[in-house]
Amino acid sequence: MASITLNNIVKKYDDGFPAVNDVSLDIADGEFVILVGPSGCGKSTLLRMIVGLEDITSGELQIDGQRMNEAAPKDRNLAMVFQNYALYPHLTVYENIAFPLRLAKGKGSDQEIDAKVQQAAKLLELQEHLDRKPANLSGGQRQRVAMGRAIVREADAFLFDEPLSNLDAKLRGQMRAEIAQLQRRLGVTSVYVTHDQTEAMTLGDRVAVLKKGELQQVASPRELYEQPINLFVAGFIGSPSMNFLPATLKEGANGAVLSSPIGDIPVPPEKAEVAQGKELVLLGLRPEYFEDATLVDEHKLSRGSVFTAELSHLEWLGHEQYGYIEFEPDEKVRDLLAGLAADMDADELRPQVVTTLSAESRVRPGQPTELWVDTSRIHIFDPESGENLT
Ligand code: ATP
Repeated sequence: MASITLNNIVKKYDDGFPAVNDVSLDIADGEFVILVGPSGCGKSTLLRMIVGLEDITSGELQIDGQRMNEAAPKDRNLAMVFQNYALYPHLTVYENIAFPLRLAKGKGSDQEIDAKVQQAAKLLELQEHLDRKPANLSGGQRQRVAMGRAIVREADAFLFDEPLSNLDAKLRGQMRAEIAQLQRRLGVTSVYVTHDQTEAMTLGDRVAVLKKGELQQVASPRELYEQPINLFVAGFIGSPSMNFLPATLKEGANGAVLSSPIGDIPVPPEKAEVAQGKELVLLGLRPEYFEDATLVDEHKLSRGSVFTAELSHLEWLGHEQYGYIEFEPDEKVRDLLAGLAADMDADELRPQVVTTLSAESRVRPGQPTELWVDTSRIHIFDPESGENLT
């Protein structure tokens, strides 16, 4: 096993534009790190530079403290697990797993190879399928064969390039759990690329969020969710996404309020302080910060505030419901939302707020409704820099 260190890594393709720009990251021995970001953010390029399939333009790659920039892929002892599994259709499961060992001279006698394949098959619960061809396996089993190949090589680290993106939603969920368990059981340093924030959040010890070749934040899933460093990370992590709402600080009858297109939201002094002196801020409100005010207990009431809004429509999901509040943006706000959407690679940001309400709520669309919002968790962003000021 090994640690992987990236120091100021830059990759420029022929067009000269940095696909990866000054990325530094320390991946500890045995750690599971996820590289996540929208299409084109450079995550595959970064992975390919680690494994040696792509030259590094500048910066240094170290594996276990040794410079590896110039090392050939085979000398890095890393195993890559691809999206399409890269299994050989004409070979059995057994031969697919044994393949890297047969390829590498000096990796052992037939007997030694057999012992390694059997051991990997046992670990992956593939013993009963060793004689089958990949075409006769489920997607999940194929995934395990691909991992078996990485295991027999006794690689220092596993590198995964969107391995689940060909699977249907249910199988993805199962395989996600399998990969997470297997990685923990084996304790192998792993780097996993995905554009799927759910995968990132559920798999990784730490998640590195990339945007346009640049690292935005590296943190545990919980920290990313609760303390996103900027608008991009806040909008990318979480589903449904965080709502962004322009607001200005005002003095209300009972203290400070953040005046927004969905109403005036009373805020505690520490939040008001953050917005002080700014003409406009962007509020970041996750859907679950809201609730039907009639269902909120005293304890919750004390750490939030109640405001009146009108729901345009409701979606009842059984265990909860989404209540939508739409607002009419003025020109300034429209420009702001368009800029934000472009920054986030989204088609558009609709002038609406999504709230998650309890299933038992009897609120109705089209009439004034008292909503509670957890103001202790409100994020306040600088609309210019995107920085989270809270
Ligand atoms: P995806 O999820 O779509 O695979 P990604 O985040 O993995 O995206 P990369 O494939 O690393 O992104 O690409 C990063 C940038 O580098 C993109 O702008 C892409 O167009 C560019 N790029 C990737 N490979 C090459 C190449 N071989 N030559 C030139 N440009 C490339």
